[in-house]
Amino acid sequence: MTYLRLPSPYRLIQLLFLILLTVMGLSILWEFELEAWVMRGLGLPYDGIFEDGERLRFVLTSTGFSLIAMIGPGVMLIKMISNARRNYLQLEGLQSHTEKLARYDSLSGLLNRRAFMELVNEQLAQLEPVIVMLIDLDYFKAVNDQRGHATGDAVLIEVAKRLEEIAIKYGCIASRLGGDEFCVVFTSRREERELGLIAADVISRIGAPMLEKLRPFRQGATVGISRSWVDATETSALLHCADVAMYRGKVTGRSTYHFYETEHGLQYQAQIDEDAALKQAVELNEIVPFYQPIVALPSQEVVGFEILARWLKPDGSTGMPADFIPALERLGLIPMMTQSLVKQACNAARDWDDHLHLSLNVSAAMITDELFPDRFLEQLRHEQFPFDRFEVEITEEALVGNIEAAERNLNRLHAHGITVALDDFGTGYSGLYHLTRLSIDKIKIDRSFFEIGKTDHRPMVEAILGMARSLNMKVTAEGIEDFHSPSLPSWLASNGCNYAQGYHYGRPQAHVSRSVAGVPDSTVLSRV
Ligand code: C2E
Ligand code: CA
Ligand code: CA
Repeated sequence: MTYLRLPSPYRLIQLLFLILLTVMGLSILWEFELEAWVMRGLGLPYDGIFEDGERLRFVLTSTGFSLIAMIGPGVMLIKMISNARRNYLQLEGLQSHTEKLARYDSLSGLLNRRAFMELVNEQLAQLEPVIVMLIDLDYFKAVNDQRGHATGDAVLIEVAKRLEEIAIKYGCIASRLGGDEFCVVFTSRREERELGLIAADVISRIGAPMLEKLRPFRQGATVGISRSWVDATETSALLHCADVAMYRGKVTGRSTYHFYETEHGLQYQAQIDEDAALKQAVELNEIVPFYQPIVALPSQEVVGFEILARWLKPDGSTGMPADFIPALERLGLIPMMTQSLVKQACNAARDWDDHLHLSLNVSAAMITDELFPDRFLEQLRHEQFPFDRFEVEITEEALVGNIEAAERNLNRLHAHGITVALDDFGTGYSGLYHLTRLSIDKIKIDRSFFEIGKTDHRPMVEAILGMARSLNMKVTAEGIEDFHSPSLPSWLASNGCNYAQGYHYGRPQAHVSRSVAGVPDSTVLSRV
């Protein structure tokens, strides 16, 4: 839409001045030439003996009156035009702003989904080639949840900036399709090899450390690529192909790129169905706690249970954590599942003897989530379950992502009497660093230390036990099985190991028998 071009007030003054000059010119012409000529032409008498002075007075009088007559309407006209101009300018500003809003994403400044669709539509309508490179940030929900929305926005802006650099470098167009989904579009054919290199560059640029103020931080991204001359000739179908290819990367390892392949479509549908089933499983509490006993050494009395998730599927089979925990993590459903497990476990354990504690596995995303401790404490309060009968188990890998947040959260739980155990100890990163910095009460020696093989791990176990003693921490030995030598528990006890867990004492099971739950002197659980 373009508006009528109005003259500026300055132009109007110029115009008035011109009118005045014209009046003056005409009156001079009239007085000195035309009047006599017209009178003669009309055959009327004309007395041409005026003095020049008189003639000039007439010129001045007529020009002066014209000027006076023009002042009022002139001022009004100037005012009206100024107002109209101001309104037009405002309207024009508004128009260009709305046009911008309609085409550009307000946060990142990149083209938005609408403009992206228009661009691809136009290209495809002219039978021109289009390549869609869809970019989805990895675990972006966790960034928002754990670091707050301001940091989330800063990450999106930084990613947009990096994609603009990519656009300049490779001659493509960057856009933000919504949320944490970006896209670059190429409007000319490129070789598959070249596209692979560009996609790798996109991933590595987005993955480069973010600004100082975002704290040391790397953002992963997964890329899906579709090409109009191979995959689809219609905009939404082409975008869908890129989405399917991107999803392939999400389920097979992230921070990678994939070209669309026909079989991805089938896998995509299967994955969508599986994800929906899993979501429903959490909502319907099909994921239930199993309980594995932990015994004290040397007495071998049961002192508590580790909660281990099992999916009781509608077809009667039982899903194991290794099969569904990664998918739940991808879907951001771990907190919901954990909340449901805690509720079910508190209900089950309420009647147990009150010396029995419960151990809960807490994922990386949860232990660094600043809202986790309050939500968890609130839930225990609601369930009226004593804090000091609960323990959280965390792995070292879970700590490395954001050690400051983990430290704060663990301190907070600790201050409320919840004990903290470091899980799978010996398999992760720098154990000593975490042990001294964080509120950790207990370490669980990973079961690989008790595997029977060529290496004798006992010296290592002895060293870990010695270290735990000097740091005043308790130790649980995991994975104690029947095939281990019968003397293992007493060897562990004599070296200062406080607790043991493993199939030898009991497998994870759906229910804890009343005798074990209610009788403090029971030793070993009935096997399932
Ligand atoms: P984890 O925390 O190290 O749990 C111990 C795992 O070792 C359990 O496997 C348990 O069944 C198994 N296990 C116990 N004793 C023995 C033994 O004597 N021999 C052998 N070979 N295995 C033994 P599970 O239940 O399959 O759990 C696997 C992992 O899944 C857990 O490892 C934990 O990291 C994760 N997981 C389980 N439940 C949850 C949960 O509710 N939340 C989260 N975030 N993770 C969970
Ligand atoms: Ca555990
Ligand atoms: Ca473990």
